[in-house]
Amino acid sequence: MKEIHHWIDGKEVKGTSGRFSDVFNPATGEVQARLSLATRAELDAAVDSAAKAQVAWGSTNPQRRARVMMKFVDLLNRDMDKLAEALSSEHGKTFPDAKGDVQRGLEVIEFCIGAPHLLKGEYTDSAGTGIDMYSMRQPLGVVAGITPFNFPAMIPLWKMGPALAAGNAMILKPSERDPSVPLMLARLLQEAGLPDGVLQVVNGDKESVDAILDNPVIQAVGFVGSTPIAQYIYERAAATGKRAQCFGGAKNHMIIMPDADLDQAADALVGAGYGAAGERCMAISVAVPVGEKTADALIEKLVPRIEKLKVGPWTAGDDVDYGPVVTRAAKENIHRLVQSGIDQGAELVVDGRDFSLQGYEDGFFVGPHLFDRVTPDMDIYKTEIFGPVLSTVRAGSYEEAIGLAMHHEYGNGTAIFTRDGDAARDFANRINIGMVGINVPIPVPLAYHTFGGWKKSGFGDLNQHGPDAFRFYTRTKTVTARWPSGIKEGGEFNFKAMD
Ligand code: NAD
Repeated sequence: MKEIHHWIDGKEVKGTSGRFSDVFNPATGEVQARLSLATRAELDAAVDSAAKAQVAWGSTNPQRRARVMMKFVDLLNRDMDKLAEALSSEHGKTFPDAKGDVQRGLEVIEFCIGAPHLLKGEYTDSAGTGIDMYSMRQPLGVVAGITPFNFPAMIPLWKMGPALAAGNAMILKPSERDPSVPLMLARLLQEAGLPDGVLQVVNGDKESVDAILDNPVIQAVGFVGSTPIAQYIYERAAATGKRAQCFGGAKNHMIIMPDADLDQAADALVGAGYGAAGERCMAISVAVPVGEKTADALIEKLVPRIEKLKVGPWTAGDDVDYGPVVTRAAKENIHRLVQSGIDQGAELVVDGRDFSLQGYEDGFFVGPHLFDRVTPDMDIYKTEIFGPVLSTVRAGSYEEAIGLAMHHEYGNGTAIFTRDGDAARDFANRINIGMVGINVPIPVPLAYHTFGGWKKSGFGDLNQHGPDAFRFYTRTKTVTARWPSGIKEGGEFNFKAMD
């Protein structure tokens, strides 16, 4: 059985805990590797040597650090297929989707090439008589990134790019479900010229996360995952005086107005609801058609599209729309929630419960489901299902529709489909959600903007990537300087005739 370990001080280091977790091939249900889970002592040792390595890296000039990022971009492009294959085989997403996962992370590394510009401070000449004031952005030291299973390339890259380009050392604790890609990224960074020890990949579970939270050297924690863990980490990090940004789960609503292009809306819903088997924090999981006529027409357009979806293993190539979910436990949880929807009175219009794929009977595949007449008191509405299940909540008016999205506890992303600029503008202004699409179903901001949800989808005040990430991974120091009069007053600069 293949074993996966840690990346410490520039090489793969075998774990010593004797504790392992299984890494599955979700398409077949087989265990394909065992992942070593770090102890607290292993985590602490990785932090100690990261702290040593950070000293030289933090004082390397930003342009040289940016050149490492430049080379890293080349290497990511060179190894794109290899990375995507490893990603698909552990996560289960389709090959083109896995390449998208790498690509959206790579774009953040491209943004980080601008680190010298982003790290420039501010300067006020003559803030008082003879006084200048300037501020500089300095790295925090050792920081940590704790990442989820659903984007095993993109989210580690979101964390490591800005943190490293800003001069920090990073402890990355990736998801234990698909750990291979983060280790490949660490190797590529070494090839790009990152000094050993500046990026340490420590694999583990709650024990290593708690060790990160308790370690006094670690200055900041960037977390992405489910809401209960995000909140836990945010609270624990604050208690030990660390800076924290913790991004959580989602329940993204898409509002379909009566004047929307319904074919466009139906296509968008199918891609955003079922792509990556619904395992995206920006997936649309709630469709809110406004008016009975809109709802009936939308359902009529959705059903044949959903019934046509091709579910299969990533090895089947471009012919597959989505793959299996990540674990058997995830599959069982989705089926349990679907049953609760039926029991609580929702109408299951497309039933994927009996889905089975010949030759892959033990894989974690889940057929597509569509619910109609879902109401806000049902568990399928309140809970993040993280599977290929779309719920339709019929709204009587625009106000009712926007109210639903506003009152939901999550606030990651949302969208409105309409031809009316006034409705779209009002929606974008009033909605209490971090990322908004107007006729765009998954409004994931590009690398040079920032990504972050509101309410229970995000804890902390700065977003991921874009300029916010450089603010998060640096602290500002402001200097006020006055110089006593010096040589220019008392000195003698002219040739003088000899006395
Ligand atoms: P998860 O919360 O189970 O795991 C995330 C990380 O936390 C992993 O590294 C894991 O090892 C660690 N962890 C798990 N349980 C822990 C515990 N009890 N104590 C300490 N650490 C623990 O999340 P997941 O299942 O890997 O990812 C899916 C979730 O992530 C979904 O809720 C999804 O919406 C969310 N997500 C959010 C965003 C965003 O930007 N808001 C992006 C992607 C995914």
